[in-house]
Amino acid sequence: MNTLIGQPASPGVAEGPISFYRPAALPSCPIAPGDPQSQAARLATCLEEARAQCQRLAQGADAASADAASADAASADMTTVELAAEILSAQAMFLSDPMLLDAARERIAQGMAAEIAWQESVEALAQQLEALGDEMWCARADDVRDVGQRVLRALAGQPQGADPVPAQGCIVAGANLLASEVMALARSGVAGLALAGGSPTAHAAILARALGIPMTVGLGEGLFDLAAGTLVQLDGSAGALRALSPGEGASPSQPPATTARQEPPLSGPAHTADGHRVQLLCNVGTLADAERGNALGAEGAGLVRSEFLFLDHPSLPNEGQQLAAYVSVFRALEAKPVVIRTWDLAADKGAWGEPDTGARQPGLGRGIRWGLRQTGATLAQLMAILRAVHLAGAGRARIMIPFVSTVEEWRAARGLVDRAMDRLAAEGQRVKPPLVGAMIEVPAAVWMADALAAEADFLSVGSNDLAQHLMATDRDAPESAELLSGLQPALLRCLQAVVAAGHQTGIPVSLCGEMASDPALMPLLVGLGFDSLSLQPTSLPSARRALASISYTRARDLASEATRCTTVAEVRALIAPPPETR
Ligand code: PEP
Ligand code: MG
Repeated sequence: MNTLIGQPASPGVAEGPISFYRPAALPSCPIAPGDPQSQAARLATCLEEARAQCQRLAQGADAASADAASADAASADMTTVELAAEILSAQAMFLSDPMLLDAARERIAQGMAAEIAWQESVEALAQQLEALGDEMWCARADDVRDVGQRVLRALAGQPQGADPVPAQGCIVAGANLLASEVMALARSGVAGLALAGGSPTAHAAILARALGIPMTVGLGEGLFDLAAGTLVQLDGSAGALRALSPGEGASPSQPPATTARQEPPLSGPAHTADGHRVQLLCNVGTLADAERGNALGAEGAGLVRSEFLFLDHPSLPNEGQQLAAYVSVFRALEAKPVVIRTWDLAADKGAWGEPDTGARQPGLGRGIRWGLRQTGATLAQLMAILRAVHLAGAGRARIMIPFVSTVEEWRAARGLVDRAMDRLAAEGQRVKPPLVGAMIEVPAAVWMADALAAEADFLSVGSNDLAQHLMATDRDAPESAELLSGLQPALLRCLQAVVAAGHQTGIPVSLCGEMASDPALMPLLVGLGFDSLSLQPTSLPSARRALASISYTRARDLASEATRCTTVAEVRALIAPPPETR
C-alpha cells in the first residue's frame, strides 16, 4: 500500500509514526453474577460515578485538551471547551435515561451480571437510535456507546480515560473512535487520526475539527496492513493517508508531528483572488455554533437546523421556547442574515414526530412532508421565527423549507407562511415580509428548480441529502463514500442546473451541505456560480483561504470542464492534477 483514500473529516496535514488504537479491554463475558440486588447496587454506584466524572470533565477539566490543540487562538480555546462540555453533558443525560436504566435493571432482575445487563442495554439502545436512519441519531448512538464504556470501566475497576497507545506525535489509527477517546488522544498530543470506518459527521470528527487535529475516516481495512511505527503522512483535507518512503518527511529522530495550525480567524467580505464575492456563512445546530461562526468571520448563517436547537427537549418545544432560542441565535450573529430551516423531522422520531403509519421508508416522511401533515406545529414555528426576527431587530426573516420535492408542496408551505403573517397582522403585529427559500435536496426538485425558482426568494442546495437520494445510497455508510463524493459528475451537473435555474430568475443560490466545508471543492463550487456557501463554523478560515487562493476565471473554467467529465477520477485529476502535470 502506498496511499489509502478515505473521506476528509478534519482539515490539515500531519506526519508521524502510525500507532494502532485498541480500546481498553473491557471485562469479558460471562461474569458470574451475584444476587440481583447486589448487582443492581453495583450498577447504581458506577452510574453515579460516571455521571460525576462527566460533570467534572464538562465543567472544565477539558481545558487541557483545548490548550494542547489551540494554544494560539484564545477564542478557539473557549469554543473547544464548550464543545467538549456539550458532548459530555449530552452523554451524561443518557446515564439518567429511564428507558436505558429500566432495561438494564430488568436484565439484572432476570439474573444477569451488571456488566452484561448494562452492555446489552446500551447496545440495544444504540441500535434503536441507528435504526432511525438519520445522521443525528447515529451520532447519538456513538454517544450512548461512549458513555456506556465509561460505566463498564467503572464496573471493572479500570481507570477512566487511560491512553492505551503511544499517541504523542503519532498518527493514531483504528476501526472507529468515540468522542471521549478523541479527547483523551488530544490530551496525549496526537498528531492526526486515521480511521478505517467512521464518518465526517460523527461527534468524534466534529471534535477533531474543533481541536484542530487532522482526521481522515473511511480508509477501509487496508489501514490494518500497515505495520505499527510506519512513518505516514495523513492529509485530513484530502482524506488520504500515505506511507512515506525512508528519508521522506520528518525524520523519526526529530519531533514527528507537523500538525497544521489554523491561522488567526479572518473576517470581512470573502472573495476570490480576482475580487469575485462569495458570501461565507455558517451552519448552526447549537448556540455555540452561532457564536463560533460569528467569531470566525461568518457573514451570517445559511442554515439553522432548528430541530438541533432542541435535541434535549422531550417533545416539540412551544412557541415561547422557540422564540427564546431563535432570538439567542440572532443575537449571537449580531443581526447578520440568518436562514432558519423549518423542522426537518422524520416521521419515526418518537414524541417529536407522528406515529409511523407503516410507510416503507419512514425516515423519508420528513422535512416539509411532515410539516404539511402537522400544520399546527409548522404554523407555531413560523410565528416564533417571525416574532424572533422582529424582537431581535434582525431585519427580514429568512425561512427555508426542507425536503421540497414538488411545486405543490412548495406552494402549500408558502401558504403556511402567509397564514402565519396573517395571524400576526390580526394580533396587530407588523413584521417585515420574510424571504422564503426552497432547499434543493431531492432529485425531483433539481428537475423542477426553474419552477421553484420562479416562486422562491432563494434556493439552497442540501448536498448531503441530494447526494444520497441522487445516488440511491445511505449518507452514513462508509462504503458509499465514493458514490457520495462531491466529485461525482452527476451531482456536479445537478448543482450546475440548480444555479442556472436560480440565476435565470434572478434569485441567489446557496449550498449548505458538507461539501461547502471542503476547501478542495471550493474552486468547483465557486466556478459553478454559488452566491453563498454555508459551512461548519470551524471550516470558515480554511474556506476563506481556499477562496482567496483562486481566481474566478480559473474556477469557472475548472467547473465547466468538471461538468463535462464522466467519472470521479477525471474530476479528481482536474482539481488535483498529479504533480508531473501541474
Ligand atoms: C443537506 O441535506 O445537505 C443538509 C444541509 O441538511 P441536513 O444535513 O440537515 O439533512
Ligand atoms: Mg438535508
